[in-house]
Amino acid sequence: MKNKYLTNVYEAFKERYPNEEEYLQSIHEVLTSLDVIIHDHPEYEQFNVVERILEPERIISFKVTWLDDKNHVQVNRGYRVQHSSLIGAYKGGLRFHPSVTRSIFKFLAFEQTLKNTLTNLHMGGGKGGSDFDPKGKSDGEIMTFCQAFMRELSQHLGEDVDVPAGDIGVGQREIGYLHGYYKKITNQVASTMTGKHTLIGGSLLRKEATGYGLAYFVEACLNKMKDTSLKDKKVIISGSGNVAIYAAEKVLELGGRVIAMSDHSGYIYCKDGVNLETIKAIKEVKREGIKRYLEHHENTKYTEDPKKMWEVETDIALPCATQNELDETSVQHLIDHGTMMVGEGANMPTTDKGIALLKEHNILYAPGKAANAGGVLVSGFEIAQNAQFNTWSSQTINDKLRDRMEAIFKNIYETAKQHNQANDLQFGVNIYSFKRLAKAMIEQGVV
Ligand code: NDP
Repeated sequence: MKNKYLTNVYEAFKERYPNEEEYLQSIHEVLTSLDVIIHDHPEYEQFNVVERILEPERIISFKVTWLDDKNHVQVNRGYRVQHSSLIGAYKGGLRFHPSVTRSIFKFLAFEQTLKNTLTNLHMGGGKGGSDFDPKGKSDGEIMTFCQAFMRELSQHLGEDVDVPAGDIGVGQREIGYLHGYYKKITNQVASTMTGKHTLIGGSLLRKEATGYGLAYFVEACLNKMKDTSLKDKKVIISGSGNVAIYAAEKVLELGGRVIAMSDHSGYIYCKDGVNLETIKAIKEVKREGIKRYLEHHENTKYTEDPKKMWEVETDIALPCATQNELDETSVQHLIDHGTMMVGEGANMPTTDKGIALLKEHNILYAPGKAANAGGVLVSGFEIAQNAQFNTWSSQTINDKLRDRMEAIFKNIYETAKQHNQANDLQFGVNIYSFKRLAKAMIEQGVV
């Protein structure tokens, strides 16, 4: 970063939040892109737009007390980072995972703000959740926790204020409990959560949206930038949760072959392609480890360490598990094995050094902020359907999702090209989103 104003802002954030590693990583990545355009926008410094966009509007943190099945009182931490309402009501998922910190929610909320701007729907950015670990909990404990969490969070939500969805550890079951309890204590049926079951106002294809959107985005990149497609490509996908499973489903539909998938304990490799129905049965229905795949299929290899999956020879790698899962060493393995593209389904799954290495070797890199926007897009469609008192068909949603993902690709590709940074989609996404947010901020005065 060369520009003095940007450097000063970054140094100030480093001093203010010295322990917030992920948050600093996510803002540094965006500021580096801004370096190229900052001279053309003196108004950014004049109105201190950069600092104002980086700093979250509000952070709520609270205690969640609940009773487990043995009648022991448990205490967890709850968070909601309402990062930006410049474009619309705060919108972004809830994550339940023991690893979460304030820094992780701040980075997720910041990235969500940029991502939502790409959709061209009027949605601001937020993110939240808890250090509650759903693993090994009974259904009753999950419900009790969700209700205790919502007792506090409900004070900060509303269809024109903040509309959460799911993320790691929060799927349709948790959204159902959260939504049900929100209605109970507010006496309102307003659309204050997305990702609901279709019977209670959810959208068709919401569950599939992030993964399907990722595959559409990857296809658009390959078509335009490599003159090829997913057809007959070998693909490896990390994770076997919501994003990973439906990315795999659409990759298969588009003619690709998914040869490896993982979970937090290991990965399976199957050179002829994994059987997705078995993975769904193990991970979605039984909520067990991916290792159990071996009990159903021969000719499959299981390796204990999920990170080793990046050593598999593949054409395309889709990190769809968690932040910083793909580091420099793993990227080097991909490069050594001739991988042509990395498409991010997870948020910030590739480290800064990993991204730099991909670019250095001319590997097509599709950043998560754009490539995984399908989920929030269909959340936006859910809000629209609820407001219209209407239900759209799967076909309609699928077509709209594909069109919007292609439009996002086109917008960021063209942006990068206009600034003589063709092929750098990371630059394109940061500049496209930031410029829109900056304009929205200046329009609304100093508030
Ligand atoms: P899920 O909880 O459904 O799935 C996460 C998966 O990742 C699980 O299979 C988990 O394994 C696995 N996992 C966790 N850590 C590792 C690791 N180190 N290596 C390999 N696998 C690992 O979450 P989602 O699919 O919803 O979210 C995944 C990512 O996508 C997150 O970064 C999220 O922020 C992002 N995202 C999600 C959206 C959505 O709509 N859900 C929208 C946009 C982005 P196990 O089953 O063993 O726990």
